[in-house]
This record gives sequence, C-alpha cells and structure tokens, in this order.
Amino acid sequence: MLRVTCPWCGAREQVEFSCHGEAGIARPADCSSLDDRGWGEYVFFKENAKGITLERWEHIHGCRRWFIALRDNVTDCFLGFSKPGEDFPQVPSSYRQALSCASIPMPRSAGGYGKNDKKVVLKR
Ligand SMILES: [Zn+2]
Repeated sequence: MLRVTCPWCGAREQVEFSCHGEAGIARPADCSSLDDRGWGEYVFFKENAKGITLERWEHIHGCRRWFIALRDNVTDCFLGFSKPGEDFPQVPSSYRQALSCASIPMPRSAGGYGKNDKKVVLKR
C-alpha cells in the first residue's frame, strides 16, 4: 500500500488523496494576453518527466488541504512534502534511486515512514 504524508495529518493510505499533477509551473504573468492556444498549453501541456517530480496533492478524504509532494515516479518513493507557501521539498542527500524508500529519512513533522509503509526495491 502506497502511503502519502499530509503535512497536517501525517501518513495515510493513498486512497485518501488525489494527485492533481505537476507543481511548480509558473503562471503566465499576463493571462489575459494569451490566446486560446497559449492558455491551453499552460493548462494542459505538462512536462510529465520521468524521475523526480513536484506534484500537487489534495487530502480529499481528510483535511481537504492541498500540498506539494516531491516524488520519484519511477520508484513511487515520496521524498518530501510541503505546505503551500513553504519552500518546495528538496531531494534528501541520502536518496539514491533504486534504494528502498524506507531508507529515506522523512521530517518528523511530516510523519515519517512507519514500519508498515511501502518499501520499493528495484530489481536489477
Ligand atoms: Zn490532511
């Protein structure tokens, strides 16, 4: 079971959350000057990069708050979380792709990983 850590509520099962896609995309400075194509590209065209990404999540079956998650979409490891207005989470220096998610130290305020949390180990 994949676990997501709400910055307010702590670690919960993924079914309590909804991912709303890529985060950290700068809003156009003057939205009213965009034509339909430009607006559509801003709203719908995302990088969808493989690897470590910033994502917007909502705790829909909990506090209903939005937050930012830093996740490796290859391993499904969550690397950090932040509340709106806070600095984006940074990749922990201890993280190396293909290691177990359980080896990543999480901030105590974010709830950390419990003994029953998902562990990902890639096959070589
Ligand atoms: Zn919450």
